[in-house]
Amino acid sequence: MRVPFLSFAPQHDPLREQILAAIAAVYDKQWYVLGDQVKAFEAAYADFNQVRHCVGVANGLDALHLSLVALNAGPGDEVLVPSNTYIATWLAISFVGATPVPVEPNPATYNIDPARLEAAITPRTKGIMPVHLYGQACEMGPIMEVARRHGLWVVEDNAQAQGATWQRSVTGSFGDVNGTSFYPGKNLGALGDAGAITTNDDALGGKIRTLRNYGSQKKYYNEVIGYNSRLDELQAAVLSVKLPHLMEWTQQRQAIAALYNQHLAGLGDLVLPTVARGATHVYHLYVVRTAHRDALQQHLQEQGIGTLIHYPVPPHRQQAYEHLGIREGVYPIAEALARTSLSLPMWPGMQGEEVAAVAAAVGGFFEGV
Ligand SMILES: *Cc1c(COP(=O)(O)O)cnc(C)c1O
Repeated sequence: MRVPFLSFAPQHDPLREQILAAIAAVYDKQWYVLGDQVKAFEAAYADFNQVRHCVGVANGLDALHLSLVALNAGPGDEVLVPSNTYIATWLAISFVGATPVPVEPNPATYNIDPARLEAAITPRTKGIMPVHLYGQACEMGPIMEVARRHGLWVVEDNAQAQGATWQRSVTGSFGDVNGTSFYPGKNLGALGDAGAITTNDDALGGKIRTLRNYGSQKKYYNEVIGYNSRLDELQAAVLSVKLPHLMEWTQQRQAIAALYNQHLAGLGDLVLPTVARGATHVYHLYVVRTAHRDALQQHLQEQGIGTLIHYPVPPHRQQAYEHLGIREGVYPIAEALARTSLSLPMWPGMQGEEVAAVAAAVGGFFEGV
């Protein structure tokens, strides 16, 4: 059985008529940027995310960048960031001229280790950017406590974890201002690029609303040097059709992960996902680890099973960050994760037989090791 890494069909096919009708309504209305659709989606997503404000923006990277602009982060500032994350989190820090300071993850959960934060704080440290990696909520209690003790702001990177919780509060509701992404493959995905910030802070919410639209609230009157980063009406209309189904899709992802956990238990040196006490995991990705990662990926590919590596090179070892001069071995946990992690197929609507086929192929590989 061939199993792709990801299929949109079970999510989109049952909603096809509704999605196309929503697109047609925008087409007919002839109002394409910052209109009723964006307003309605912002209200619905703020409600879902249990925050006062949601501001739609063009993509997840912009959501993080505008968050840092709104917090006045700039040159000379240091921002604590996971050593193992998608590069977008680091790029947002670089865009404002601040310096990313890597902090190693908990090697079991892969999320930033709250116990390592304090050692990385200097007089220049201004904030922390926790990333709810692969869909698991970070330990936000201890993180917020360190932030409060040292007067730091927090910006959550919630691109992978819409609907995850830490002690029953949803990710994207803890930080001063938080960014998320609706890139198509994310748990809530648009049919193109889209993103949002979420916040309970009226002033920061208002500032980002202005920043995303040329620094202007009143057309042709510009208060600040702003950006063009707007969520468009078409994507907002599609997202509004999909949002009511997000919790049901999340439950499907969790059921698939539970099935994987059953099938894959005890195979060779394979390490399965661990969820921290107090956190929930919405399985944007189902990531396993093995010392034989590359051979396993090759084997699965030969069996027609799609996998991906998230991520093969940690940000501090990317050419883009050569100037930081961080040698190999300084962040060994992130580097070990980059060498050993493999993401198995995962999407809402994936069938039990498909999960079993992937697991059987993984099992077959470890028989030969
Ligand atoms: C996808 C992603 C982003 C960026 O989102 P885009 O919409 O692609 O700009 C940022 N951080 C993380 C962790 C992501 O997975």
